[in-house]
Amino acid sequence: MIPPDHPRYRSLVIRERLARCAREGVVALEGLTAHGRAEAFDYLIGERSTASAREAARVAAALVYQARHPVLSVNGNTAALAAAECALFQEVTGCDIEVNLFHRTEERITRITRILEDEGATVLKGTPERCIPLQHDRALCLPHGIGSADLVLVPLEDGDRCEALREMGRTVVTIDLNPLSRTARKASLTVVDELTRALPLIVEAYRGMSPAEADTLVSGYDNTYLLKAAIAEIVRELSRALD
Ligand code: ATP
Repeated sequence: MIPPDHPRYRSLVIRERLARCAREGVVALEGLTAHGRAEAFDYLIGERSTASAREAARVAAALVYQARHPVLSVNGNTAALAAAECALFQEVTGCDIEVNLFHRTEERITRITRILEDEGATVLKGTPERCIPLQHDRALCLPHGIGSADLVLVPLEDGDRCEALREMGRTVVTIDLNPLSRTARKASLTVVDELTRALPLIVEAYRGMSPAEADTLVSGYDNTYLLKAAIAEIVRELSRALD
């Protein structure tokens, strides 16, 4: 039992949830190490949504707003951390949700689907095909899902699928606390923020979006500029860390 007045209560509760999800086979053991890396970067940005993350979230909302067929791609960590946020994102944006895993088994797909459905999400089903030119199982997608999406929102992504999707001409929006990851640099747009903070920010921006605002945001953004701003915010945070 974690005492609620523990200074790192939220972080400890999340770790406990991820560990339980790992024991249940929802989160891959490798996913726990990915979470550790993310926690370190969250520390560096001050465990809050920075100004550049808020700006990137507005652009993400605009890109989703303009997309013909947006698909939210969910892995084990995303479902364990943010199933309710994913369901709300779908309710507000009308996007499709597809489970796509690096460590893919039918059992994991079923478990992750159930977690999402328990929160009210509708999850695409069907027979996957090798829609993405990759050697591993993240190549496997549903032809009516990621296979035909013009925009894929891929939180907590690994770089090679991001790169492959970009080469296929897809718009890739990612949420990744590490502004230096390959994904962050290869994506069309990166929101450098923690997943459970970023998804509600995108939803909020989407709710107030107009066609004219979406046009302005999409035509005016520069992912490298946003990544540099995220790094500058980390540097600022570090420079006043012990003040
Ligand atoms: P790349 O191949 O893009 O360099 P990587 O090897 O760092 O990526 P993974 O190990 O697959 O990629 O990890 C996924 C990324 O997700 C990591 O960069 C990590 O910082 C990020 N991440 C994990 N959990 C969260 C979270 N809760 N919120 C935001 N980002 C997260």
